[in-house]
Amino acid sequence: MTDAGLALADWFTAHRRDLPWREEAARLDPYRVLVSELMLQQTRVATAIPYFQRFVARFPDVRSLADAPEGDVMAAWKGLGYYSRARNLLEAAQAVVREHGGRLPEDFAALRRLPGVGDYTAGAVLSIAFGVATPAVDGNVLRVLARFAGLDGDVARPATRKRVADLSAALSPPGRAADFCEGLMELGATVCLPKTPDCGACPWSGACAAFAEGRTAELPVKRPKPPPERSERTALVVRDGAGRLLVEYRESGLLGGLWGFPEREAEDAFEARSGVRPDLAGARPAGVVEHVFTHRRWRMEVFACSVARAADTPDGPESRDDPPPRPPFRWVTEAEFEALPVSKAFQKVWSTARVFTGG
Ligand code: SF4
Repeated sequence: MTDAGLALADWFTAHRRDLPWREEAARLDPYRVLVSELMLQQTRVATAIPYFQRFVARFPDVRSLADAPEGDVMAAWKGLGYYSRARNLLEAAQAVVREHGGRLPEDFAALRRLPGVGDYTAGAVLSIAFGVATPAVDGNVLRVLARFAGLDGDVARPATRKRVADLSAALSPPGRAADFCEGLMELGATVCLPKTPDCGACPWSGACAAFAEGRTAELPVKRPKPPPERSERTALVVRDGAGRLLVEYRESGLLGGLWGFPEREAEDAFEARSGVRPDLAGARPAGVVEHVFTHRRWRMEVFACSVARAADTPDGPESRDDPPPRPPFRWVTEAEFEALPVSKAFQKVWSTARVFTGG
């Protein structure tokens, strides 16, 4: 079994792509392995490279990240999406400082207790940084090993994933855990591709069941995913008399840690919550925005409006004395808005609404 594992580890050493998290110092640094693995969970390699370089230059170790204000961390992540990863990374760094003296633990259960660290990430950190052979099974690894072993089970089923994890552990050659782990990832990313596996270039072509049986197109077996759940929403882009925008910070949930535009709600409720009374009667429809998250699809009707002023306001409608909003709401200039961590969904809202709001 480990002959095949050794062949893969050697293939990786000879063919691996040069990536910033593959430099030897980075591979031996569990913090950098953790940062790269979290970035790569939902992001393509080419996109992640400059983000990784900037992130580790700005936060070179666990302590510098743990001490950073959340806004700085989110700003460094801005544009990568799936911002819960950034919040988890910050909270994980804080937990590592608090509970492990600033060093990531060389222990699967302790790693798994860190925010955002699942079986895959814990396995990758242990294998790559500590050289401890531990399965790290993601979609790429499921595909490669399901083909290699000719597994017919649905790869979404826990039983199949367990078989793949056991197979990975059995294949890992002694002393080469890091090269084997990254070799599996690299093979899945560059050779054993979903639709067009390049079996001629594969170090496992002589041992692979799917290749021998002509079943590479059939494997892995995957049941179709349910379509993302639809959600109908209404976003409100409100400007004050000075042209500033009303933004809201989301503490938790799908967009936790990010700023965005408020969602329209009953006038009284909105005023009570935000301290701002928008002119909802004068709100103009600005368009419709669709955004797909992993499991959800938002359809947002976008309305643009300004702040309502009572007729008896001393300075009348020209008043610049707009109400101070209550946290988590805030007035920001357009330049300030551009610098905030804002989800892609609300960036789309802004592109749709700015023309209707004088932006
Ligand atoms: S031989 Fe082909 S199907 Fe088998 S692991 Fe290699 S690339 Fe994938």
